[in-house]
Amino acid sequence: MTTIDQTSATKYPNVRNYIGGTFVDANERSMLDVTNPADGSVISRVPLSGQSEVDRAVDAARAAFPKWSATPIKERVQVFYRYKALLEKNITELGALVSEENGKIRNEAEAEVLKSAELCEFATSLPQIVPGEVLEVSRGVECRVERYPVGIVSSITPFNFPNMVPNWTIPNAIALGNCMILKPSEQVPLSSGRIAELLKEAGLPDGVLNVVHGGQDTVEAICDHPYIDTISFVGSTHVAKIVFRRGSHNLKRVLALGGAKNHLIVMPDAEPDMTSNNVVASMSGCAGQRCMAASVMMAVGRTDHIVERMAGIVRGMVPGTHIGPVISKAAKERIERYITEAEEAGAKVLVDGRGYVVPGRENGYYVGPTLIDHVTPDMRIAQDEIFGPVMVIIRANDVDEALKVQRRSPYGNAASVFTENGGVARYVMENASAGMVGVNVGVPVPREPFGFGGWNDSKFGVGDITGRGSIELWTRSKKMTTKWNKEAGTNWMS
Ligand code: NAD
Repeated sequence: MTTIDQTSATKYPNVRNYIGGTFVDANERSMLDVTNPADGSVISRVPLSGQSEVDRAVDAARAAFPKWSATPIKERVQVFYRYKALLEKNITELGALVSEENGKIRNEAEAEVLKSAELCEFATSLPQIVPGEVLEVSRGVECRVERYPVGIVSSITPFNFPNMVPNWTIPNAIALGNCMILKPSEQVPLSSGRIAELLKEAGLPDGVLNVVHGGQDTVEAICDHPYIDTISFVGSTHVAKIVFRRGSHNLKRVLALGGAKNHLIVMPDAEPDMTSNNVVASMSGCAGQRCMAASVMMAVGRTDHIVERMAGIVRGMVPGTHIGPVISKAAKERIERYITEAEEAGAKVLVDGRGYVVPGRENGYYVGPTLIDHVTPDMRIAQDEIFGPVMVIIRANDVDEALKVQRRSPYGNAASVFTENGGVARYVMENASAGMVGVNVGVPVPREPFGFGGWNDSKFGVGDITGRGSIELWTRSKKMTTKWNKEAGTNWMS
């Protein structure tokens, strides 16, 4: 951590909070370096905001709320048609920024921005999805349900998708009439400034979206703030539990998505090329830093031919070209320690990504894609979230043995099976203990209108963070009963 007085030049100026439609300096004097993981250079500094900045942002959101919430939804979503077009128009620049602060390679970064655009597509369809319900419940008596925004909401986001995860929440929450305080990861704060600028260009009124930068203190101020009604959180399970407990204790609505350990069950009849390509893409995409990345392959029966193909593909991948760095030096060291520990415990490292150096980027935080075979379920590498390009292979005799390992994991984000057998596929989908399951898919992310959300320690709270499942999070329903004709009967419910 440095202080604001430190004046060494960085590529980008110090990050500023965005409050009431204007970029402003934080009162706090603590600043954190923002690093480009590809070469270790400091590219900016981010303020660690405290209570007073959160107060200012909430004041701005509260000032904007009456007018924004009273704006008809069909008008509100117009902003997101224009914002979607701006994301698409600026994809090269936005992708470059994601790549610079997060490290992921350019095509992954641009795919992330495209996904943000797709999320706007769903938000623009909300007027078609949320009309209330109405029924004549007895003669002359009508009940209807209408949805209202919850008020001031906050979205707290992780480092691994600086553009997409904020856009998991911004379009739906704001289109549904809420005003928001976004708290981006302090490791990747730059994309959120561009998101705010593009939303302003798209016509979002000042104060509807506010961005407050910081870390633990900022999050605690959000959890404690009396005028924040709803909190969404995406990050590690450790912090998800803290935010869920603290926010709920303060009587807020909280949806907190946590970490993951995702299992792919590979059956002997799986199509070898498709399976090996998909499994490798799942473990290595975004350097394994996706909450949907596969990190355990349950190799059932005779699957050596698939493991061999995977090793061939992985050996051909070049860090710096096909795979980006991990987020920090600490992450690289932690991942490498896990590999070493597994090796010492008797696992066989088939392809070793430790100590990888990309020529010309010697200070980058690269870990080469790594395959480790003959891991046993009791090893730490088989249980903990590694969040790097590492695939652990556990051998199983049959599908039930494989499922047993999956079901013992405390997490429950994703699980998938690779097979040509429909019965086995259905059996795994029904019995895996995970919120998002797949067949012959390495990354079983549901696309809108379906919602994103796992089970167990991968999600705390009700509903999903995207799609139809998020409507309940961002709105509250009002039930209205009306009787207009004086002839209608009078009874105990009148
Ligand atoms: P993180 O939990 O360290 O940080 C997430 C957010 O919490 C950040 O904004 C950070 O500033 C804040 N924070 C950190 N420590 C805190 C504390 N002690 N108290 C209060 N707030 C705190 O997560 P990360 O390292 O940025 O992101 C990686 C994690 O996110 C992985 O575990 C990954 O699986 C998870 N993730 C989950 C999903 C999902 O949908 N389930 C999606 C993306 C990422």
